[in-house]
This record gives sequence, structure tokens and C-alpha cells, in this order.
Amino acid sequence: MKNFLDENFLLNNKTAEQLYHDFAKQMPVIDYHCHQLPDQIANDHQFENLTQVWLYGDHYKWRAMRANGVNERFITGDATDFEKFEAWAATVPYTLRNPLYHWTHLELQRYFDVYDILDSTTAKKIYDECTAKLQTPEYSVKNLLRKMNVKVVCTTDDPIDSLEHHQKIKADGFEIKILPAYRPDKAMNVDDAASFNAYVTKVETASGISVTSYSTYLDALKNRHDFFAEMGGSVSDHGLEQIYAEDYTEAEVNAAFDKIRSGSELSQEENLKFKSAMLHTFAIWDHARGWVQQYHLGALRNNNARMLGKLGPDTGWDSIGDFSQSRALSKFMNRLDSTDQLAKTIIYNLNPADNELMATMIGNFNDGSVAGKVQFGSGWWFLDQKDGMTRQLNALSNMGLLSKFVGMLTDSRSFLSYPRHEYFRRLLCNMFGEEIENGEMPNNIEWVGKVIQDICYNNANEYFGWKM
Ligand SMILES: [Zn+2]
Repeated sequence: MKNFLDENFLLNNKTAEQLYHDFAKQMPVIDYHCHQLPDQIANDHQFENLTQVWLYGDHYKWRAMRANGVNERFITGDATDFEKFEAWAATVPYTLRNPLYHWTHLELQRYFDVYDILDSTTAKKIYDECTAKLQTPEYSVKNLLRKMNVKVVCTTDDPIDSLEHHQKIKADGFEIKILPAYRPDKAMNVDDAASFNAYVTKVETASGISVTSYSTYLDALKNRHDFFAEMGGSVSDHGLEQIYAEDYTEAEVNAAFDKIRSGSELSQEENLKFKSAMLHTFAIWDHARGWVQQYHLGALRNNNARMLGKLGPDTGWDSIGDFSQSRALSKFMNRLDSTDQLAKTIIYNLNPADNELMATMIGNFNDGSVAGKVQFGSGWWFLDQKDGMTRQLNALSNMGLLSKFVGMLTDSRSFLSYPRHEYFRRLLCNMFGEEIENGEMPNNIEWVGKVIQDICYNNANEYFGWKM
């Protein structure tokens, strides 16, 4: 029997161990999509205790605590930081087989050298030990990133964001690239006239451009896109239920814009045409700048209206949806490809039933300009676990080229989440190691090791063009 989470965790044979320890482990990390807060990096924030860094923004843990029957007071309420930690510690033993059990103990090991199992009996000792460490300079946010050998972090930012924190980070000369990503979800969300119009006002302020028509609205958003590029940005990101690719005319979109600006709600048809036009336009801008565009598809968000009202979005009330993806995705990319304006694209599905669909969709638009031009993104959110990652890797292997995959990202809100890259790498090495040992792959450790290093780091480095 192996020891829990020992150095050969998830590595189930000698070849897998060799691939991980001699090839994968040493590679730096490119975190090309996450939700870290740039102000915490700019200010090299120091967390006061383990609850702040671990539990303040992590709705994965909140959901587990709720499932364990913990009262909301100890999750997002007014309980003290230690009381919240105790509630989490009491929940951990019940998270067996949930990825949280692995993440939690990997994070304790890698950041804090803590090898105890977290439960109610060890809570106080672990909290005190980690909290004391967090208060030392070695555990500032910048040092947490350095500790994990991170080279690039792409945050997720709204077009109206001033990017002042990115500016400060740049001015201070931090050696890790912290780049903004343009995420215009709100800019195309015309489901509610009042919120859309409030948002347009903010776009006007951010861009200094007065919005009097659809075309001036695009000018203002393009101005922000240019600004993101000036700040070193070269990726965009979209969180959508599905791709919008309806047919529309310029006149229809202009009219829909004027209608919602006058305060009237759009019909379903107008709404979809408008979103389709916006999405196409953003994609054209991304292509013109040589950016990488990412589409996170398939979340059914804010299912609990009562809790949405109390806590707002992104607090743990979302699930996997069953939206139809293939036709619109195909039409969307085909429209761009037909005018040679399809940017490098990464598509992520939240519904695992769409794995094979995605793995085959990405093969439709390669054009010889770059390896793996359209990528099937890593297992994301609910699929960011052993089974989900394995299934994504298998679908990609079966129907595309795993060797050209740009690999893992954290998609996280926590600076302690970088061991997820390690977890991914261990799974990957185990997969290759097993097939070498089974005689399904030649025992050419140098070549397989190189392919693994490509997936861990080199492919992303090449694909995103950061050339480090
Ligand atoms: Zn994300």
C-alpha cells in the first residue's frame, strides 16, 4: 500500500515516476486563465491567516460545507475567521473522493510543509502553524507565485477595468508576467435594459467616448481592447451558456441597440442577433491583434434566486447546463474562418457529455498557421478533477493531438491553488507511463518526456507567443 499523497501520488508505475520526476516536475507554470485579484499582486498582499487565503473567495469549499450541513454563518457570514476554519476542517474528512480532499492536502504540503491530515482534531495546530507562516515575507502573494515557479498569470478583467493594478505591477518590475484578459460578458449582455444601460455609462467613462449609437459603442469597446493590448494583454475570455451565431444585418443590430438604449427590452430574436454580432466583432478584434480567444461554455448559473439575492453571483450556486453547443460553435468559427479572421481559439465545455464534440470540433479549422490552432481546453470547474481531466485528455488523444495541447490552467481565485498544475502533470505522466509499461507506446523515455514537457509548458509558451 502506498502512503497517502506521497512523492509518487497518482504515479502508479516506475515509468510514470520517471516521467514526472525527471521531466514534468521541473517545468515552470503558465497560468493562462484564472481569477486572481490583481490588486493583491500589485500590493504584494500578505494574508493574515489561513481562512483569508483559503476560504474567503473559494466557492468550491463553500459548496462542500453547505452540503455537509454547515450553517451559512460559518461560510460567508459573520463567524470569526477561526470559527470558519473549524467548520471547514470538520468538513474535510467528509470530502473524501471530492477533489477538494486532494487539493487541500496538496496545498498544505507544498506551501506550508504540513503533512498532517486536516480534521477537527488537527484544525487548531494547522491553523496556527500556517497562519504564522502566512505572516512572514516569504508568504506574500508575489512570493507564493515565485514558490510555485509561475512565469505568467492571466487575470480576468472587464473592459471597463482601469487596469491600474496591472500598471503598478508593471511599473514595479515584477519578473512574473501578470497580464490582463479582456472579458466582455457584460458588454454583450442585453437580457436586462436597465443593467445594460448602466454598463454602457461605465464604458463611456472608461473609454472617454460618448456612446450615441451601436457604432460608437463598438468604438468605445475597441478603445478598451486597444488599451488592454497596450498593457500587454493578448488573450480574451468569454463565459457563455453557448456561442451565439445567428444571422443578422447591420440594420437589425443598430435598431436593437437603439431600442435597448431607449429603455425597452429586446425580443428573444433581437437579443440573440445582438449577442451574435458582438461576439463576432470581438473575435475580429482578437484576430487582428493576434490574440488568443477563449470560450468557457455551458454553465447554468445562479440557480438559487434566494441566495443570489443575499450573496450575489459566483458564490457557489451554479451547475452544469445542457445547452446545445455544436451547430453554433461550428457556424461561429466557420464565419470567421471564411474571411480568414479566425484567431487562435480555446474552447472549454462544462458538460462532460460535450467532450467528444469539442475534441472533434477543434479539428475543423486548422490552417497550417500554428500547431493546434483551435484547442480543446482543459477540464474546467466541475470537471477540474481526476476523472474530468482524464476524460478530457482521453477524448483529445482519441480524436486530436494530445501532444499539441496547451495544458493546464488554474481558473482559480486562490493563490494557493497552483498545485493543480502538479496534479494535472501527475495524471498525464501516469497515463503515458502506463501505456509504455503495457507496450502500447515505445519505451522512448526521452521522446515521451519531451512531449510531456511540451504539454506542461512549451506548447503554451509557443502558442500564446510570450517566448520566454
Ligand atoms: Zn474562469
